[in-house]
Amino acid sequence: MITAIRDARPLGGHAPIDVSIADGLITGIHPAGTLAAGEGVIDAAGRWIMPGLWDEHVHLTQWAQHRRRLDLEGASSAAEVASIVRDAAADAAPGETIVGGGFRDALWPDAPTAALLDAAAPDHAVVLVSADVHCAWLSTAALARYVPAYAAASAGSQGAETADAAVSGLLREEAAFAVTRQLDGAPDDVLDRWVDEAAREAAARGVVGVVDLEMRWNRDDWARRVEGGFDALRVEFGVYPQHLDRAIELGLRSGLDVAEGVRVGPLKVITDGSLNTRTAYCCDPYPEESATPYGVLTVPPCDLEPLLARAAEAGFELAVHAIGDGANHTALDVFARIGRGGRIEHAQLLRPCDFPRFAALGVVASVQPEHAVDDRDVAERFWPGRTGRAFALRSLLDAGARLVLGSDAPVAPLDPWVSIAAATTRTRGDREPFHAEQSITPHEALAASTRSLVAVGEPADLLLVDADPLTASGDALRSMPVALTLLGGRPTHSAL
Ligand SMILES: [Zn+2]
Repeated sequence: MITAIRDARPLGGHAPIDVSIADGLITGIHPAGTLAAGEGVIDAAGRWIMPGLWDEHVHLTQWAQHRRRLDLEGASSAAEVASIVRDAAADAAPGETIVGGGFRDALWPDAPTAALLDAAAPDHAVVLVSADVHCAWLSTAALARYVPAYAAASAGSQGAETADAAVSGLLREEAAFAVTRQLDGAPDDVLDRWVDEAAREAAARGVVGVVDLEMRWNRDDWARRVEGGFDALRVEFGVYPQHLDRAIELGLRSGLDVAEGVRVGPLKVITDGSLNTRTAYCCDPYPEESATPYGVLTVPPCDLEPLLARAAEAGFELAVHAIGDGANHTALDVFARIGRGGRIEHAQLLRPCDFPRFAALGVVASVQPEHAVDDRDVAERFWPGRTGRAFALRSLLDAGARLVLGSDAPVAPLDPWVSIAAATTRTRGDREPFHAEQSITPHEALAASTRSLVAVGEPADLLLVDADPLTASGDALRSMPVALTLLGGRPTHSAL
């Protein structure tokens, strides 16, 4: 345990300080030079001290798996993906399902098809999960293995949707989630080990806590992990509607500690799709012909309202996934009707009239700034003329909304510095910023990525970093060197 940090520089140009720590809390802040060196005392040597970072929206199990999957992030065509799969097939064990992740097909010149994957990996089932995880691209063997409706239909007459999937191999929304849930079927001890590795890596980036919105019955996973020694992060886990009854029966409610460092988070409801999959529910139609021109509202207000009311009554905080402006407007209407605040996850595309409603209704905007950088071209294509109010962090803050930042890992890396850099610069590398007027300041981005302060009585969730985040450039923010991460006074990472 650490009892003190000496000679650390607070952000904002203040004089260096010594910090004393006891029982997981900051117990004193003194001018540098007050405290003596000794056992359990860290010499910060003038590094910057700041609160530990939170990633407010992750899917930790998926991220842990994604880190080990075939990386399709950079592929710019279906053919390029097929060639990556072909190489992987050469190394894959017989019978192994080849799993890839991170593809972004919205701007590809060619169409993904099951046949393309069949040809690339004739002896293996192939499942590729899109970067936004709302779409899965399967080979014919994988369709037969993971999609019962396909297997049944291929024996008899095929439904239209099944026939379509047989050609494209593409599944969207619930059909895609049903496949990824089966991929999660690795044994618990294996997944737990991967999650532990991913969490340690996050701690090394300065993360002290995550909101885990994994689409699983998270309570048992987390109780088991803590039992097995997991202690790298604080965790708040989401509960999905299909598990709400069970959660209420067990007396779970948001804020309840279920294991050391693990507490119940919000009810999470997904009400629309995503931008890349063109299923985000919008007020204006998508520019291209589609069976669902406005996207998909997966939970209509008549269902959302009683669901949220019931969860709120049972003591749950409310987190509603809404990406399109139609879905956001609907969600805000429902928050207004039930008279409860909560969070909207993503809040990607908003009608101008809805910006002030976040503050008025007490709804937090839980946003993922790196999506703006990743999806700027897709947004220009599918939300033409509307991108000025897409990923509109500045407009939200100016309208009084409270922002919290996250990665939505595996959609973006579980690294808050990436989110902070994207929120402040709206770009990566040399490209011009995407709607620079929507950027927020480093100070605002840090406030939206932390839950505590460097102050007496606050948890000793602290970082030492090698550069000043308030003045660092975008690239320097992205790769911010974290020298030390303390979680309740205990080091979870040290490069000192
Ligand atoms: Zn998510």
